[in-house]
Amino acid sequence: MRVATWRGGSEITIDTVPDPRPAPGQVLLKVHSSGICGTDIHKTQGLFPGIPPEVLGHEFVGPVVEVGEGVDPKLIGKNIACTLNASCGECQSCMTWSAMHCEREPRLAGGFAEYVIVDQRQVHIVPNSLDPETAAMTEPAACVISTLNMLGEIEVGCDALVVGGGLLGLLTVGVLKLRGVGRIILSEPNPTRLSMGRQFGADILNDPTEVDVVDLVNDLTDGHGVKIGVEAVGVPELVANVSKMIRPRGNLVLVGVSPQGSALPVDLYDFHYKEITMSGAFGAGDAFGEALETLPNLNLAGVVSGRFPLERTAEALQISSSGTGVKYMIAPHD
Ligand SMILES: [Zn+2]
Ligand SMILES: [Zn+2]
Repeated sequence: MRVATWRGGSEITIDTVPDPRPAPGQVLLKVHSSGICGTDIHKTQGLFPGIPPEVLGHEFVGPVVEVGEGVDPKLIGKNIACTLNASCGECQSCMTWSAMHCEREPRLAGGFAEYVIVDQRQVHIVPNSLDPETAAMTEPAACVISTLNMLGEIEVGCDALVVGGGLLGLLTVGVLKLRGVGRIILSEPNPTRLSMGRQFGADILNDPTEVDVVDLVNDLTDGHGVKIGVEAVGVPELVANVSKMIRPRGNLVLVGVSPQGSALPVDLYDFHYKEITMSGAFGAGDAFGEALETLPNLNLAGVVSGRFPLERTAEALQISSSGTGVKYMIAPHD
C-alpha cells in the first residue's frame, strides 16, 4: 500500500510499504477520509513534538476490511472512527487522567495512508446516519468537548468569547451553544471562517482587524467581561489578550495548542484579583464517544474546504497551514 511519510521539516514522500495484516485484536481500516489536524502541520513546522519518519494523520474514518483473531467479523464493512490509542483502563494514567495518556498502549495512527491498523479498543462504529467525511471530525470535536468538560456545569445564559474560527473554534462555538451559553462572540479575521460562525450559533461576529475585540467585549458586557473566554488558535499573545476579557470568577480556556516552550505573557495579579480559572486539555481525553454522539447536532455543512489524494499530502498540508479554508481531508481512495 501507499503511505505519505513525513521526513522532517516540510518534506513528505510517498512510499510503498508492505500491505498491513491485522494481528490478534487488531482491525484493518480502509481510509475514506483522513483530516489534516493543526498538530500535523505544527509537527512539520517544528512547533509540536514529533520524530520523523512518521506517517501523520490521526483523524481517519473508513470501513473495516479485515479483522484479526479474536475480533468480531461482523465489524467488516462498518465505517469506524478511532481514538489515537487503545487505553488499558488499568494503569495509573488511565484511572486518574484520561485514555489519551495510557502508559501501556502505543499510539496506532498514521491516517495519511491507504490503510491503517488499529487496536479493536480504539474502534467506534460510525452510525449510518453520519457520513464518513463528517465522522472524520470526531477527534477534533472530542478535543473541544474534553476541554469544555473541564469547566464542569456551564452557567446557562452566560456570555462567551471564542477567538479563532478554525475548525476547533467553530466546534467550540457549537458545543458552547448546545450547553446553554447565551451570547457567543466569535473573533476571526478570515471572512469565510467568520461567517461560518453563524451556523454553529455565534451571535456576534468580530473581525479583529476592523473592530478591537477588547472594546467590543467591554461594550457588550458593560466592562465586566465574559464568563468563558476561549483561545482556539494557539498563540500565546492571543491567550493573554483573551485573559483580559474574562469577568471575575470566569474561565480562560485553552483550545488552541500553543507551541511547546511558549510562556504566557500576562499580569498574574489580574488572575489572582479576578479569581480566574485557566484550563486546557490534551487531545480527545475520554470524550471520543461523546463527540460521535454530538456531531449530528452540529451544522458542519461546508467546513471541509478540500479533499486531496495521497500524492498531494505535502501540498494539502501547505494549503491547510495558510488559514484560508477550515478543514482539509486526505482521501486516498477517491
Ligand atoms: Zn487532531
Ligand atoms: Zn492505561
